[in-house]
Amino acid sequence: MHPLLDHFGRPLRNLRLSVTDRCNLRCSYCMPEADYVWLPKSDVLTFEEIDRLVSVFTALGVDKVRLTGGEPLLRADLPELIALLAQRPLRDLAMTTNGVLLTQHAAALRSAGLHRLTVSLDTLDPATFALLTRRDDHARVLAGIEAARAAGFGELKLDTVVIAGVNDHELVPLVEFGARIGAEVRFIEYMDVGGATRWRLDRVVSRQQMLQRLAQHFGPIRELPRTDAAPAERFALPDGGTFGIIASVTQPFCATCDRARLTADGMWFLCLYAERGTDLRRLLRAGASDADLAGALAAAWRQRQERGAEVRAGLRERTPLAAADRLRQQPHLEMHTRGG
Ligand code: SAM
Ligand code: SF4
Repeated sequence: MHPLLDHFGRPLRNLRLSVTDRCNLRCSYCMPEADYVWLPKSDVLTFEEIDRLVSVFTALGVDKVRLTGGEPLLRADLPELIALLAQRPLRDLAMTTNGVLLTQHAAALRSAGLHRLTVSLDTLDPATFALLTRRDDHARVLAGIEAARAAGFGELKLDTVVIAGVNDHELVPLVEFGARIGAEVRFIEYMDVGGATRWRLDRVVSRQQMLQRLAQHFGPIRELPRTDAAPAERFALPDGGTFGIIASVTQPFCATCDRARLTADGMWFLCLYAERGTDLRRLLRAGASDADLAGALAAAWRQRQERGAEVRAGLRERTPLAAADRLRQQPHLEMHTRGG
């Protein structure tokens, strides 16, 4: 099959599927506000609708799907959706979670057919966790990570958003923690996405600064060759340990970006920063055939010119993408709606 290419020759391979916009944490870089405008429940796609869309996406070349949110484990009966998606011809079926509810669900996720798990873990310190998330759930996250390992998720990844003055002193302990439990840590530069209304450039710890600090402690760091279009660059430490960095702010990877995002209510966005998306729920519920859906997806992808992170990096003065009142009017701009 010829890959479906966008305007810049980037294939459609990767779908991030948000299953809910709700969350049980309030991370300061994602959901800092006091209250939120949620997607209406009746707009949220059913598992059958999601599975049908995924079948059309896979026919067009998508072979990697990642479930996300909001917090995906807040969606009731999620293993049922995973069991449906596990029947699709996917090279990779993964999920990103904050880990709070993992102890309850890890085993069911595994037996439903989920391939891989990424748990967000920004700190090893319960007090910093409480400050960052406005919730007191650090111990539950650590227990969740243990439960994921016990359930057999071998290729565990830990995602850490690094913020100057908050958790940037924890780079070394986090790498050591990852090594101890057999998980790879990926440090993410703090992004100026929708939801990050308190973002400031001087809060971003750059890829270069992270590498410097880690090299000071561990010794010379070697860059590992890239294997696919994944955003994380991977590095090896002198002792053989590895870690990743996602440098979306200082080194955007738009040139190879093969991913699109579907919100829980069926809006399809071609970029994390895109202002407008395609309303797939409307098409689905108006009785579109698979061929109609495939036609709409293919037409949108062929015209795709988005390279949002590069455009942001080119701005002379960088401020948060959107202020809180605009996010309330356009909740689809929110990171917790778009799925990160
Ligand atoms: N609730 C789940 C979780 O936190 O893992 C999944 C959804 S969350 C939106 C997906 C990822 O986006 C998380 O790893 C989170 O740390 C990351 N994220 C959210 N806001 C971010 C920001 N402003 N900069 C960088 N990463 C961010
Ligand atoms: Fe934090 Fe994820 Fe919830 Fe955003 S969606 S507030 S990153 S746990």
